[in-house]
Amino acid sequence: EEVDPEDTIKLRVLGHGSSGKVYQVQHKLSGRLYALKVIQEKHELAVRKQILTEMDILRRASSPHVVRCYGSADKVGEISFVLEYMDGGSLANVLEAQKVVAEPYLAEVARQVLRGLHYLHINKIVHRDIKPSNLLINHKQEVKIADFGVSTILASTLAPCNSFVGTCAYMSPERFDPDSHGGNYSGYAADIWSLGLSLLECATGYFPFLSPGQKADWPTLMVAICYSEPPSPPANASPQFKDFIKRCLQKDPALRPRACSLLSHPFVARDEGSPVDLSTLLQSLNL
Ligand code: ATP
Ligand code: MG
Repeated sequence: EEVDPEDTIKLRVLGHGSSGKVYQVQHKLSGRLYALKVIQEKHELAVRKQILTEMDILRRASSPHVVRCYGSADKVGEISFVLEYMDGGSLANVLEAQKVVAEPYLAEVARQVLRGLHYLHINKIVHRDIKPSNLLINHKQEVKIADFGVSTILASTLAPCNSFVGTCAYMSPERFDPDSHGGNYSGYAADIWSLGLSLLECATGYFPFLSPGQKADWPTLMVAICYSEPPSPPANASPQFKDFIKRCLQKDPALRPRACSLLSHPFVARDEGSPVDLSTLLQSLNL
């Protein structure tokens, strides 16, 4: 199934990101809904080529937990992508509406995201921008990883921090260390860190390296990520959740488990066979 951005009509704006806008669009012929991400492009040809190459690889990615890309267009000044429309919005939207997410739902979210990460990692793809606004949900209660704007195919060089378009807040400590770029673990393990941080934020309702409501500039945040103890869940969290987060947020990337081994962690594995109903996460959103 191939959808040309030119064959769609914009219905409304779904959200704004640092790189551009996301629209809800409708395919003129089929009437089907999609999301259209439009990236305003100021980059030179080489960078543009790289974005399109990576997008091409991801278009061949096929996992129930990775948002599908159906087509792209490369016009002067902008690149646009036709994406699977996720009608429940992002986990960041859920947090805005519900403040915190209870553990049983977090476990189900973690399970689905880990399946997506496992798929990407065995295909040598590192996402590099796992955070609540890039984890999307739909009415079928599927949670999917979106936004491959800065993802990379392992073996290619990791870009330094200043080349990122989004926030660096979810980046793991080793990603600030230029010497660790070639390391065996830096790629995959960085996604595990970001997942742990995102889940912890969902559990508490605030970004783990800051106190509730605190705003910090980027250098302050980077110092906290690199030099303070990794954050941990509140005292009343379950032992399983505490252990899961502890494993994800280890400073040494070599110690962080792979996605496949986390899938059998008691926090994630305990509800296998009795599916968790994620519909409460969707209730506060206007679908
Ligand atoms: P950043 O630019 O730092 O990644 P962001 O993730 O919020 O920030 P975008 O990736 O541009 O920015 O996405 C903006 C918003 O659009 C998301 O938060 C989400 O609510 C919505 N969105 C993105 N992709 C889809 C999609 N496939 N289906 C439905 N909504 C989407
Ligand atoms: Mg995004």
